Amino acid sequence: MSIPRLQNFINGQPMANKSGETIAVENPATGEEIYHIEVADEHIREAAIESAREAFKIWSATPAVERARVLHRAAALLRERNNELAGYEVQDCGKPLQEAEAVDVVTGADVVEFFASLAPTQVGQQQDLGGDFYYTRKEPLGICAGIGAWNYPLQIACWKSAPALAAGNVMIFKPSEETPRGAVELAKLYIEAGVPAGVFNVVIGAGEVGQWLTNHASIEKISFTGEVPTGKKVVESAASTLKDVTMELGGKSPLLVFEDADISQAVSAAMLGNFFTQGEVCTNCTRVFVHESIMEAFMDELVRRTQNNIVAGDPMNPDVNFGAMISKKHQELVMSYIEKGKQEGARLVTGGTTLSPDDAPDGYFIAPTIFADCTDDMTIVKEEIFGPVMSVLAFTDEDEVIRRANDTPLGLAAGVMTQDVKRAHRVIHQLQAGICWVNSWGASPAEMPVGGYKMSGIGRENGIETLNQYTQTKSVYMGMVDLESPF
Ligand code: NDP
Repeated sequence: MSIPRLQNFINGQPMANKSGETIAVENPATGEEIYHIEVADEHIREAAIESAREAFKIWSATPAVERARVLHRAAALLRERNNELAGYEVQDCGKPLQEAEAVDVVTGADVVEFFASLAPTQVGQQQDLGGDFYYTRKEPLGICAGIGAWNYPLQIACWKSAPALAAGNVMIFKPSEETPRGAVELAKLYIEAGVPAGVFNVVIGAGEVGQWLTNHASIEKISFTGEVPTGKKVVESAASTLKDVTMELGGKSPLLVFEDADISQAVSAAMLGNFFTQGEVCTNCTRVFVHESIMEAFMDELVRRTQNNIVAGDPMNPDVNFGAMISKKHQELVMSYIEKGKQEGARLVTGGTTLSPDDAPDGYFIAPTIFADCTDDMTIVKEEIFGPVMSVLAFTDEDEVIRRANDTPLGLAAGVMTQDVKRAHRVIHQLQAGICWVNSWGASPAEMPVGGYKMSGIGRENGIETLNQYTQTKSVYMGMVDLESPF
């Protein structure tokens, strides 16, 4: 059987590469090759830049209300195609269909809709200077690049392209080589919605395609989602041409469960923040700090619900709520962290093994894993694992837990579970994280800016402020009286 090919999407259509180089993409739940991607070669890359340059002339001159109308159509198409697109995400990522149908496409569509609505609200200022005056224009940056991770491929492509396009920019997007289909589907859908050819091009391939984007002199901004070490390389490379950067990087986020918390709600937050998308979520609360006085009750419910309520298996089965790791390599990496946890003295309470479900025996599954009696110096407590591995730590006092929660170079997310409203605000204001939840975990509506403190990121996605990051202010001074010149 011949394996289908996925081509780069340039200037409104799929484009064949000339080098013939391809990379195989696997379905992580079956281990089968599902298609090959054609790697973006020199010919594709040049075409991507050239068509983006031409498209920018058209799109940046399109009235904002018209851009909004087109993007609203794209959001409507995303919703119409929800189940089909969710299915592609499941095949590429190994995540459960029930999640992809409820979250992945919808949260992408929400953000496209949100920025479509904001597009016509971008206004400049005018100020009188006593005869002369000046005014400002909010102008787009030009060609922006988006580089995405593999955990939410379509959603990430939407989150990056929506504000860029709403502000009148064009984007060249590079998805992860492991999950490229979502971005190509989005590119097709944008064309159908009326986005001009070349406004959203997709170049596919491995990290070196991303590196080419970060080096290219014609690209004005990079919006990157991925690991901290890759993020550092991107910033370094972007510095050579002084590009603007938005960095959405990794985390090791704390959830603080105080003695007055609703225990069932706290367990829900801990499970959502460790086992949703089988643990492959950047904001995961992988460090769960629980007050010692409620530790036993918390652990009892946590272990019972983890053992009884998680259904791993073929992610296309609508009853399955727990999918496969993205690749065999990643499965091995996560297992190596589990081994380190055991060696360093954490108490394995449940999980800790690979899984081979009856209906997906060759998938790269790992059982939801919980370690108790963890201490701050353990590797599993310090490093991002990006898998279903929860570390539970005991604490006794508010100041102590705040200090320990902040004792990390990362600062993506944080959460507090308490019934005491004063404590909730007091504690959350002291936590060094860009995305915080009180008595909740994981929701990321389009309206809410998200991004990291410390080494978890630079800049924000979503929310009104993000649109500003895709514009630059031009000041125009208007001379109304004759210049006085000493020359
Ligand atoms: P990586 O950093 O490995 O890759 C991210 C993207 O960068 C991929 O498209 C990758 O290509 C590309 N890339 C690799 N090398 C370079 C380079 N030198 N220059 C430019 N681009 C390059 O991250 P993962 O894909 O493994 O994603 C998981 C990580 O993403 C986790 O750390 C997670 O926390 C983080 N993340 C952060 C989010 C946030 O909003 N803060 C959201 C989601 C994930 P390829 O993979 O094809 O080689």
